Amino acid sequence: MTEGIYFDAPTYGKATLTPDPIQSTRDYSDKALADITQAMPLSAEDQQRFHVLLKGGIDYLQGMTSAECEQLVRNTTYLDFLDRYANQPEAVRQVLQDSWLPMMGAGWEAISTYEALYYGFPGTDRIRVTIKHGVEDPYIYKFPDGNASVARALVRYLIPKAIPGNTMEDLVTAKADYSQLDQPDNSVRIRLNSTAVNVRHTSRGDRVDVAYVQEGRVCRVRGRHVVMACYNQMIPHLCPEATAEQNAAIAQATKIPFVLGTFALRNWRAFQEAGYYKFYSPGKVFFQYLRLDFPVSLGDYKYAQKTDEPIVVTAWYSPRAPGLPAQDQYRAGRAQLMEMAFSDFETDIVNHFDGMLGSYGFDVERDMAGITLNRWPHGYAYEFEGVGINPAYGRYNGPHIQGRARIGRISIANSDSEAHAYVDGAVDAAHRAVSEQLAI
Ligand SMILES: Cc1cc2nc3c(=O)[nH]c(=O)nc-3n(C[C@H](O)[C@H](O)[C@H](O)COP(=O)(O)OP(=O)(O)OC[C@H]3O[C@@H](n4cnc5c(N)ncnc54)[C@H](O)[C@@H]3O)c2cc1C
Repeated sequence: MTEGIYFDAPTYGKATLTPDPIQSTRDYSDKALADITQAMPLSAEDQQRFHVLLKGGIDYLQGMTSAECEQLVRNTTYLDFLDRYANQPEAVRQVLQDSWLPMMGAGWEAISTYEALYYGFPGTDRIRVTIKHGVEDPYIYKFPDGNASVARALVRYLIPKAIPGNTMEDLVTAKADYSQLDQPDNSVRIRLNSTAVNVRHTSRGDRVDVAYVQEGRVCRVRGRHVVMACYNQMIPHLCPEATAEQNAAIAQATKIPFVLGTFALRNWRAFQEAGYYKFYSPGKVFFQYLRLDFPVSLGDYKYAQKTDEPIVVTAWYSPRAPGLPAQDQYRAGRAQLMEMAFSDFETDIVNHFDGMLGSYGFDVERDMAGITLNRWPHGYAYEFEGVGINPAYGRYNGPHIQGRARIGRISIANSDSEAHAYVDGAVDAAHRAVSEQLAI
């Protein structure tokens, strides 16, 4: 099975599936790329121009110095680059516009050509800008339940009696005993459903008071040290000791919102019949990305081995407002999420699966056992997505460094403070924050 593109009938006139070569052009021969573009519901001329783009090998910024290229790619959206330099028609730009949505939370109309170059999008292969790629493990190492097991492993280490077992294999199916989390004789106590509302030093400055709300009551704990590991933008509202400059630095980032859909299927025969395990949909569907979940078996947890067995589909939806700069899209998307109901999604999901896999035997009524939607108004930490961003900004340099400055016995963690959206960012932030406090 391979990656596919689903062109929906309401947008493209007829429902069509093709392989998705957008980020893997090198895996396809020229002939295969021609066949794929010719199968797309586009005009013959648009198909031909898309084929030329996918084939690569053209320097669309010919005549520019390396420095000029860099200046241009950092300050031009990829969609503009496709239009003004790569001579791509509107229909092709539309197909590509949302092709990196789950990572950016906005379409290419708001994200730079530099990002497209970094991630190897079509038309950028001959641009003379040197990109430093870090060494990354392939995106296959994960627990079956994702980062949940990372958190569970940490809890088990801190409070062993809360989760039985001691290996990676026995972690996934282990049942947590929540009653053990906050026992008075624990050396570490985890208090759930307790929202901090005020954090400040005592008048002598050698302790910190944290006021929190639990079941409608305001309570207080006092400690020698505090690490605030929440969405950093809340810190100015919780911590009156943060300076105006620090608050202004924190305000320069905002989290990226999204909705993660998890669809339980009774079988995945239609996926195999169609020949795809993953789909990008450039048209009018909510979940423009969906895929069969990663096949991970661990301990007693076994991934579906046969197409007749139940399976989970993971799907991404990015609420946003195309036309605005990326950060404004994230804020607008968050506001939209607050107004959306489950029913807004449900009909769309049913139509999506009908159109995409109906002709391969998928029957939503029969084959879809359940839909779970997790709204993440504050999803990914901001990593300077956008266009015209200061090129010096990145994980190790940017306003977030000033934003995470220690405030006496209060240190600041969370992936926001690293400008890095992934769990290693959160772990690095925690390590730095605790080290700051231990050094006092
Ligand atoms: C759907 C999804 C998929 C992801 N997939 C991956 C992946 O595959 N790989 C990867 O590396 N990363 C992934 N991430 C990112 C990863 O989950 C985050 O980087 C990581 O969870 C960040 O950890 P954190 O401690 O910074 O913040 P969080 O995990 O957000 O923790 C912050 C905690 O603070 C609590 N909190 C906030 N305000 C208060 C308050 N006032 N009082 C008390 N508590 C408060 C929150 O309830 C929350 O529990 C994904 C994220 C999402 C949302």
